[in-house]
Amino acid sequence: MNQLICSKCQAVYPLNEPIWRCRHCGSILDLQFTPVIDIVKIKHRRPTLWRYREAIPIELDENIVTFDEGFTSLLEVRFGGRPVWIKQDHLFPTGSYKDRGATVLISKMKELGIQHCVEDSSGNAGCAVAAYCAQAGIGCDIYVPDDTAPAKLAQIQLYGAGLKRIPGSREDTAAAVQLAAENQYYASHSWNPFFFQGTKTFAYEVCEQLGWQAPDTVILPVGNGTLLLGAQIGFAELHQAGIISKEPRLVAVQSEACAPLAQAWFQNLPEIPSIQKKDTMAEGIAIASPIRGHQIVEAVRCSSGEFITVSDGDIKASLVRLGKQGHYIEPTSAATTAGVEKYLAAHPREEMVVSVFTGSGLKATEKILSLWH
Ligand SMILES: *Cc1c(COP(=O)(O)O)cnc(C)c1O
Ligand SMILES: [Zn+2]
Repeated sequence: MNQLICSKCQAVYPLNEPIWRCRHCGSILDLQFTPVIDIVKIKHRRPTLWRYREAIPIELDENIVTFDEGFTSLLEVRFGGRPVWIKQDHLFPTGSYKDRGATVLISKMKELGIQHCVEDSSGNAGCAVAAYCAQAGIGCDIYVPDDTAPAKLAQIQLYGAGLKRIPGSREDTAAAVQLAAENQYYASHSWNPFFFQGTKTFAYEVCEQLGWQAPDTVILPVGNGTLLLGAQIGFAELHQAGIISKEPRLVAVQSEACAPLAQAWFQNLPEIPSIQKKDTMAEGIAIASPIRGHQIVEAVRCSSGEFITVSDGDIKASLVRLGKQGHYIEPTSAATTAGVEKYLAAHPREEMVVSVFTGSGLKATEKILSLWH
């Protein structure tokens, strides 16, 4: 049965209901969907994430909003001499992997006949939603914290979106958009389950690029967990379909300055603690109260994975090391690579490790320049 289901009260809704949270209890919705995966058919298709067409819950092809994104290369990068396979997701059309989620979510919105939406973001999700809305002819207002990087503000405006700069914290921005979402469709990358149906293609691509095999370990960033939870869905679907024989360990990386989930993990807390976050180079994953926090911790636990935290010193060092190898990524993305370095140091075993460059360095010119003064 393909449907939306409330994660708390189990209320169900058809996929064509234009809602982003449970109408009864207000909780997050998940999506139940049986994908069709025909690896012979897939092999002959064009190199975009829409090659997994029958695994993506959009009804009509004519509703697909796409820039031919995805199927990013899985590049071997050396960390202290050890090979790690890195998805080049900083090379997406809007400069981050958020395009995976946006292409599916905005396609669904077109299918639902939505004409206007709101979204909040520390920048990259806003850029992605704005670009796909532009192509779909859907109006959107993007709410961002006032101190969002100039490159992201420019990008959102050039796509023609309404830019709402909100003073205060990332949480103040979330509160402002939720007010607006009371009478507009909320194209939220953290709430809306269709976004995760796009980020799950990360797992499909990795497995296909490895000859339809799962890696041993996948190391991913976690703020709201949009990539990690999507990847978990993708690996689980491939496993259930009998295409891969095991699911990889999921290793979640948080910035020490804002690590509520790592704290819950290490202290074995039943609830996600409310924390006082500090400034960090990795502002893109500095989420103090991630709404899918429980799901993220569960996904890591069920995969026999673990949490890793990294300091701003670790992040800077990793950013600089990768730059010297010719990779230009944004500081938030270097939190993940710093996590890769920590993971490898703690696990000398031989295994296949996959990770990701999440965002382009071109998004963060000021921050990168500030490394030299
Ligand atoms: C969105 C994003 C992440 C991951 O963030 P989540 O909050 O876990 O979805 C990591 N790096 C970059 C560059 C991002 O834009
Ligand atoms: Zn409910």
